[in-house]
Amino acid sequence: MYDVIIIGGGPCGLAAGIEASKAGLSHLILEKGSLTESIRRYPKMMRFFSTAENIEIGGIPFPISGVKANRNEALQYYRKVAGYFNLNFKLFTEVNHVTRYAPTGNEGDQSEELFTVFTTDGQAYQARKVILATGYFDKPRWLQIPGEDLPHVTHYYDEPFQYSYTNVVIVGASNSAVEAALELYRADAHVTIIHRADDFRKTVKYWLVPDVKNRVKEGKIHTRFSTCVTRIEPGKVGITDLQTGEESELPADFVLILTGYIPDAGLLRECGVELNPETQVPVYDKETFETNVPGLYVCGTVMAGIYTEKVFIENGRDHAKAIMDHITGKPVRKVAELIERI
Ligand SMILES: Cc1cc2nc3c(=O)[nH]c(=O)nc-3n(C[C@H](O)[C@H](O)[C@H](O)COP(=O)(O)OP(=O)(O)OC[C@H]3O[C@@H](n4cnc5c(N)ncnc54)[C@H](O)[C@@H]3O)c2cc1C
Repeated sequence: MYDVIIIGGGPCGLAAGIEASKAGLSHLILEKGSLTESIRRYPKMMRFFSTAENIEIGGIPFPISGVKANRNEALQYYRKVAGYFNLNFKLFTEVNHVTRYAPTGNEGDQSEELFTVFTTDGQAYQARKVILATGYFDKPRWLQIPGEDLPHVTHYYDEPFQYSYTNVVIVGASNSAVEAALELYRADAHVTIIHRADDFRKTVKYWLVPDVKNRVKEGKIHTRFSTCVTRIEPGKVGITDLQTGEESELPADFVLILTGYIPDAGLLRECGVELNPETQVPVYDKETFETNVPGLYVCGTVMAGIYTEKVFIENGRDHAKAIMDHITGKPVRKVAELIERI
């Protein structure tokens, strides 16, 4: 029996483990992949837009030689912090179901209710409270077009060298799409960005904008704005110009669909958490982060629904402070629930 089970070992899940330790609560972090699995799967050359101190957890300084950490530095940092706090985690253990029960059979008394957390390897773990910190990186936003599941199509960009001297179509015009396009162009790929709107997204990191726009001006990166991809076939994509309605095809040895990710509503529902049907935002208290299921909390990006641009490590790392205050019956510290970037 643990005081708290935390589902997800990303930065916010680890921060929750640290806060539980600090509060003297026993905890178990169940993580379906490696420690900080999402960050491990980020593009290999990615650099955080946040300064290092803004993604620190547990009050442990994150010293780097520059200002913003890269993926490898972040992986090293979170691993060492997890070790420093002696966090109790079980890796490669996926949770698929959580139930509540009254051990005394006293159905009416919610204060007595406990949780059983079930994993796909057939194990069950008991806890007084459960914190869901499962992030959003597992579920890409699919375009729902024919051919999207072909082997030359991916929703995750890793590194550029696989794509050198090939035709690559990138769908999307956000940070991920722009960063991939620049890296690919510099690795001698022939890149075309396709996006429904008429320009890059306003959230693109300000220092990337002149770089990508100048490459477009020079004809080194190609763009098709106000255009959507309607189908994918081996070696090509079908596109439609949204202004003229004209249909055409583009060569595509590879297609990178970088249109973002969304928290997996499935596990939330499995746990009994209600979701707004339009935004997929779970029902939770904005100050304590407790969901409609008493004793079950959301922490980090999992709470964002479609608004994933509003929850980052920067603010998500603090959610656990309020959660732990609520669990231990202390006055709840006020922490930033969401942030606006633009
Ligand atoms: C390319 C890129 C760059 C970014 N740069 C920044 C930045 O500069 N600054 C910033 O603040 N944010 C940045 N972000 C966003 C940031 O990474 C996320 O907000 C952050 O990872 C959220 O942390 P989390 O712990 O809530 O979720 P995650 O880090 O996604 O962790 C969730 C964990 O839960 C695990 N999990 C999922 N389902 C289950 C299950 N059923 N059972 C067990 N485990 C499960 C996953 O494997 C994962 O390890 C960036 C994101 C991307 C994609």
